[in-house]
Amino acid sequence: MELLKKLSIRNKIQVFFDLYIKKNQIEPLAKHNQLLLDSVCEGIVGLDASGSISFINPSVTELIGWQQNELIGKPATILFHPDKIRQDYIDWQRVDIHEGCEIPEPYKDNDACFITKNQKLLPVRFSCNPILANDNKLQGYVLTFNDIAEQKQAQEELTKLAEYDLLTGLANRALLYRLLPAAIEKARLKHAELVLLFLDLDRFKGLNGALGRNAGDILLKQVADRLVSAVRKSDTVVRLDGDEFTVMLEGSLTSRQMIMIADKIIHSISQPFNLDNYEVYTSTSIGIATYPHCANNAQSLIKCASAAMYAAKSKGRNNYQFYTQEFNEQIEERIKIENCLCNALENNEFEIHYQPRLDMKNNTINGFEALLRWHSPSLGKIPPSVFIPIAEETRIINDIGLWVLQESCKQKKDWLDQGLSHPSIKLAINLSTKQLNNKELISSIKHVLNETGLQSDAIELELTESAIMDNPGENISILKMINDLGITIAIDDFGTGYSSLNYLKLLPIKLLKIDKSFVHDIFLDPNDAVIAKSIIRLSHSLGLSVIAEGVETKAQYDFLRQNSCDQMQGYYYSKPLTKHEMANYLSDSKIH
Ligand code: C2E
Ligand code: CA
Ligand code: CA
Repeated sequence: MELLKKLSIRNKIQVFFDLYIKKNQIEPLAKHNQLLLDSVCEGIVGLDASGSISFINPSVTELIGWQQNELIGKPATILFHPDKIRQDYIDWQRVDIHEGCEIPEPYKDNDACFITKNQKLLPVRFSCNPILANDNKLQGYVLTFNDIAEQKQAQEELTKLAEYDLLTGLANRALLYRLLPAAIEKARLKHAELVLLFLDLDRFKGLNGALGRNAGDILLKQVADRLVSAVRKSDTVVRLDGDEFTVMLEGSLTSRQMIMIADKIIHSISQPFNLDNYEVYTSTSIGIATYPHCANNAQSLIKCASAAMYAAKSKGRNNYQFYTQEFNEQIEERIKIENCLCNALENNEFEIHYQPRLDMKNNTINGFEALLRWHSPSLGKIPPSVFIPIAEETRIINDIGLWVLQESCKQKKDWLDQGLSHPSIKLAINLSTKQLNNKELISSIKHVLNETGLQSDAIELELTESAIMDNPGENISILKMINDLGITIAIDDFGTGYSSLNYLKLLPIKLLKIDKSFVHDIFLDPNDAVIAKSIIRLSHSLGLSVIAEGVETKAQYDFLRQNSCDQMQGYYYSKPLTKHEMANYLSDSKIH
């Protein structure tokens, strides 16, 4: 008996074959043979040549509950769950049994589901082998099966681990990559559409950093729950990564319906989240892409929806955007620029131009602004308004910004040493918000000043209002450190951002630059003239010096002069100049 247990299923079948054949030759089963069959833990079902059950061993009763007398004479298919039996087995039976194929091939190790007597499903792995008589004529079949419920369950658990997100219980990226192609194929066959939403929480990284990871996790779980309740049961919500989610909406939806769903999600996420008794607010940006309009395969559809999500972010967050072809072209262009930008510094593709600035009281140069220029060998000249935001997003701005600081300080020192410049002529350098958040900023500035031997009061750093207001608490303390080094801080593009008087008082600034859009429209839009005048008055009341930028005409110059603007910069006075032009300009200027 022990020996029998150790036999492989195939050996056991062989034993059974011998016994069965003998039975069919009307030789009564010997007692010890019966014992052998009884001890086999696999279910063994004998079938006659027409596929009807002619014998079962006790394990069959144990496994599926049917008694021998309840099954004898019934077709073998009675054991199978009709939905879970594989078509190829049905075909195999049909061909081999009913059409009486001479020597049918065995049907081995296939998975199916049997129905037990009390109507439960039992996952099984079964084989079906033909039994041939001495004359090679088909006598019947022997069907053997194993209970694989445990194995199936373990497999399902593994699949769950691999395809579901542990934190939120949502489907994960792997499952999306399995389901989406299938859903697209289904939509293709039905000539239907499929909608993919790509969501990202706005400023989640900041929240996660401020609240700690645990609270961040709780927030993500609550977001997941809200997403699930905002959509239909048949829609699939997926957590892709971090704070990125997708929702797959099957079936054709009108644009209005898509907008309603996106609005519902945006509204739901904008409600306060309760994390350990304190309230947190967040919002989401959603990209919408549809099959077949935007893409015809899963990967491209995800790419389109994600690109649309970035468009939503750049349009101010907390909104949705549909994917468009035009937008795609922009993204592709952006990727090209990004790729070239990575090596631009290394390949010496940058150059700094300098734009002189005029002191309006005595009509002399009192400073110049370093403006970066990029000439890419493959893309041509790309303006800073295009490449600076990309450099900021990819963090390349830290290296580029440091290079501008080094190069322009070195240049200014050279001009001073050559007697071309004067300490009162300031070098203005633009600083991006990302540089402000770089922990090494202060030490980099100190290092550059040390290295070049330039005095700190020779430079001014220009920052926009929005750069400062991104994180006012932290940024103000960094600005104080910069100010403590003896460097002047100027607010750039004033009037386009918050323009709040309250915070101006808190900042260690000395200069305000009126944005060129106001100067441009001084004579076109009466509001702009009023704004320009009040910025000048306001700055003076706060003890700040005012620079008007983008001054292009004599009329603008006169207006600013009449309204006591302190300094000006613009094409009327001088365009940005190459370093050689600037050296000539300085040498021609009255004060050195
Ligand atoms: P910005 O700091 O406001 O610089 C002034 C911009 O106005 C420059 O554009 C300049 O060429 C342009 N400009 C000067 N005078 C006139 C005028 O009379 N009329 C008009 N219409 N425009 C005038 P540019 O050089 O294209 O730079 C654009 C922006 O790129 C800058 O705006 C600045 O925000 C950024 N940028 C340039 N260089 C750097 C840099 O080294 N670092 C960082 N972070 N940003 C930079
Ligand atoms: Ca500037
Ligand atoms: Ca500006």
